[in-house]
Amino acid sequence: MSEPGNDCHGTTATRRPPRGPGRRLIAIAGNPNTGKTTLFNRLTGANARVGNYPGITVERTLGQLTLEAETFDVLDIPGTYSLVSRSPEEQIAIDALLGRHGHPRPDLVVLVLDATNLGRNLYMVLQVLEFGLPLILALNMMDAAGAAGLHIDVGALERRLGIPVVPTTASKAHGLDALRTQIADALDDDPLYPPPGWRWTPTPALEADLATLVPHLGTERPDDLGPDATRAVALWALMSIDADDELEGVPAGLRLAVLDRLRRARETGRDPDAEAVSARYAWIDKLVAEVLHRDPPPGRSWTERLDAVLIHPVAGFAVFLALMFVVFQALFAWSDPAITAIEALFAATGEALRGTLTPGMTADFLVDGLIGGVGSVIVFLPQIVLLFLFIGLLEDSGYMARAAFLMDRVMNKVGLHGRAFVPLLSGFACAVPAIMATRTMERRRDRFLTMMVVPLTTCSARLPVYTLIIGSLFPAGDVFGLPVAGLLMIAMYLFGTLMALIAAAVIGRTVLKGPRVPLLMELPPYRAPDPRSVARLLLGRVRTFLTEAGTVILACSIVLWGLLYFPRESSEAAVVEARIAALPAEDAPDADPEARAALEAELAGARLRNSLGGRLGRLIEPAIEPLGFDWKIGVGLVGAFAAREVFVSTLGVVYGVGGDVDEESATLRERMRAEHHADGRPVYSPLAGLSLLVFFALAAQCMSTLAAVKRETRSWRWPSFVFGYMTALAWGASFLVWQVGRALGY
Ligand code: GDP
Ligand code: MG
Repeated sequence: MSEPGNDCHGTTATRRPPRGPGRRLIAIAGNPNTGKTTLFNRLTGANARVGNYPGITVERTLGQLTLEAETFDVLDIPGTYSLVSRSPEEQIAIDALLGRHGHPRPDLVVLVLDATNLGRNLYMVLQVLEFGLPLILALNMMDAAGAAGLHIDVGALERRLGIPVVPTTASKAHGLDALRTQIADALDDDPLYPPPGWRWTPTPALEADLATLVPHLGTERPDDLGPDATRAVALWALMSIDADDELEGVPAGLRLAVLDRLRRARETGRDPDAEAVSARYAWIDKLVAEVLHRDPPPGRSWTERLDAVLIHPVAGFAVFLALMFVVFQALFAWSDPAITAIEALFAATGEALRGTLTPGMTADFLVDGLIGGVGSVIVFLPQIVLLFLFIGLLEDSGYMARAAFLMDRVMNKVGLHGRAFVPLLSGFACAVPAIMATRTMERRRDRFLTMMVVPLTTCSARLPVYTLIIGSLFPAGDVFGLPVAGLLMIAMYLFGTLMALIAAAVIGRTVLKGPRVPLLMELPPYRAPDPRSVARLLLGRVRTFLTEAGTVILACSIVLWGLLYFPRESSEAAVVEARIAALPAEDAPDADPEARAALEAELAGARLRNSLGGRLGRLIEPAIEPLGFDWKIGVGLVGAFAAREVFVSTLGVVYGVGGDVDEESATLRERMRAEHHADGRPVYSPLAGLSLLVFFALAAQCMSTLAAVKRETRSWRWPSFVFGYMTALAWGASFLVWQVGRALGY
């Protein structure tokens, strides 16, 4: 096909770069999970070389393809939803396409599209067209589109876009011959065809932004690609550069010019980002309406009948709440046996190992530090697996899109994107995979805002802490015929969720200001979940948890073990040691094992109180006293920084009930209840318990979450912000609870 697009404007014949001595380069680009790598392997026979991108450790796969006696290099570019970039890793896609910053310019771009998700995939097509790059499309996953009853008029799509489109099913090797022919044809043409260029007209204000930026493009100016491409690079700069991006190689003058333009635009209440995004989507929506047809369902389709209920503003919401109730109910009820089994397994392994070792520091480290640390990671798996299994099933069946649609109204009120629903739900298992799950949102603001509030949702690490506090400090009993403990637990989950929404509303109006964009989402037809893709999501999230959170939790647990273990000697410990030494020998006829065990527990407590961590707990006592906590809780809070649930075992040691708290948690509860001030008031009143619950709900006590935020935002600024605001919030809220409660006489 060689006719120009029928509604293009500003066409300029683009010359290919002169043929150099090296091989010509074909770049395969597109959104994540569209089948790029599958296609790459099919085209190159997977004889790939793997290396790193210039200056960056992101894998780069280069293979060869021979067509009509010429051998080409083929490059598999990492998938992105958009070419707008903030970090060096995201920058790879645009740099590799434009051939800048040390990347060779491709002679042809093959953009791989997921035919089942045409609208979203076309977004990147528009971006590449704006740069005037020689482009053909592989419309992949045609099998899945057919199965979903989607019919795409490929001819109409070609005409409207002005570029060749080849339908393919990469996984079954369908359409590959046609694709090879099209690639060969495209590479023979010179110029390829009149590049269709921009498919939308910027508003006059946006056009003025671009005009001001063009003179500042400097080394970024793609001189050989023509004026449309120059404007496109200006738009890329406007949408990518911001006060806190980490882009590399941006000319200083350009950065200043963009920041100045952004400031002016924001002063007049404009958002250039949103203007470009919504104009592109307006064009795409019109195109999709023309070329995409769904099978007319026989009568009312199942999907329509279900949707009449499931996205109904009242009935849909009720179903949604009921479903969430079932999910959480199952989450707690089903994961319990597995958690107990894992705890028992690690305890038994530790004891078995201890039996083979001579008592001493090495044995203590291996059993308590290492095995204990690994155990504290693995014990989260049952809940994480269960929750992501549910999320996978809901996502794959098509329900999650409806849930996001229903929640969009709520989410939008607090400034969150509808798609933020899935990360927030994932946060109930663990914030780390939840933070990774924000990647499905295109706008940086939406992603960052979600990351800032996800750590407030009630993750599974808070559960054992809540259980301990509620069990020991609140009287068992019923209120209105319902158990207090259960009600409190539900209240804590609601509290966390509510605080996350409030935080989003506040942060979204201050630190991360930005306009709301409407949720653009196709509601896919309902279908039976595919076990393979559910398993893929599940394994991916579990792997994320184990590698990202697990390593940090393990490292922190080991450091913490050291903090709470050393130094071993102190005058307090020496007194207890002397009393133990005075006991009759263990094998003596008058031995008293019970007295010995009690003294040994006392010794462990004495050592912990005098350890570095114990001293740290006392050091922070003045800061936590106004919240109703004493230094013992302080030691527990120090411990909780590795992972929250460490609070429980640390407190167990503080109270000298031995390391294995689960068997002795009844004892720990009794000890905590028995603790009294000199004047006879109990140390741990229900009010202190409430203050502690609130503190755990709000504090950013998780190193792995902070590490994940650092990784995803590529800056120290955002993890510091999360840590700062959550700690302040936790302190302030607990302060209020304790002080107001005291004033009211509790
Ligand atoms: P990439 O992230 O774009 O590199 O995508 P991959 O090549 O890794 O493919 C993602 C998933 O989609 C894999 O499980 C593939 O087997 C599958 N896949 C690739 N092409 C097709 C296709 O044409 N149809 C179907 N149904 N699945 C495909
Ligand atoms: Mg890939």
